[in-house]
Amino acid sequence: MDIQANLKTIYAELPAGVRLVAVSKFHPKEALMEAYRAGQRIFGESRVQEMTEKHDALPDDIQWHFIGHLQTNKIKYMAPYVAMIHGVDSYKLLVEIDKQAARCGRVIPCLLQLHIAREETKFGFSFDECNDMLADGGWRSLTHVSLHGVMGMASNTDDTEQVQREFRSLHDYFLEAKERFFADYPAFSEISMGMSHDYPIALREGATMVRIGTKIFGERV
Ligand SMILES: *Cc1c(COP(=O)(O)O)cnc(C)c1O
Repeated sequence: MDIQANLKTIYAELPAGVRLVAVSKFHPKEALMEAYRAGQRIFGESRVQEMTEKHDALPDDIQWHFIGHLQTNKIKYMAPYVAMIHGVDSYKLLVEIDKQAARCGRVIPCLLQLHIAREETKFGFSFDECNDMLADGGWRSLTHVSLHGVMGMASNTDDTEQVQREFRSLHDYFLEAKERFFADYPAFSEISMGMSHDYPIALREGATMVRIGTKIFGERV
């Protein structure tokens, strides 16, 4: 794997303003350093312990994005340093992140995960559940989390039209939520969608952040 060449190929494809989260889960620190030397500064991890070990060993100017499924009891380990949490799919988690962030004197940027795929197994709010949570308004009093946008994963299928519809539904939801709940929140601006096999479609559908692992680092072992 030529990590630096893979990154350069992807950078050349990203429209201005779109950020790359290099998904480095299960890959060794040497691989991350290779990407770091090519200029990559945002890394995505899906297990808190693994992310924390890498955070402790690697340069300070790396921004660590947590993209995995959240467990309440693990939030405290990443609260001191995590740059963004992508997978918030319940109000209870938001409250817990707020509590742990407060203990560290931080405000943690979070994305709301929406369930856009056909597969039942994927996590995330339904659009209705998310609207109910936002309409309830309790989140407005959580001063140590900041809602920066939405995140979603498309179905794992070769049907590109299906994938496109799912990404479009996330973009549409983002616009609706922005107008209804975040008109006075300029920070609510991110649409995190697209992985190695479907990011070109996500870019066409308005992703502001793509999360790419395999295409940079090779298969996970
Ligand atoms: C693993 C993972 C990715 C990256 O997947 P690749 O197919 O390796 O690009 C992106 N997003 C999430 C939520 C993941 O868990």
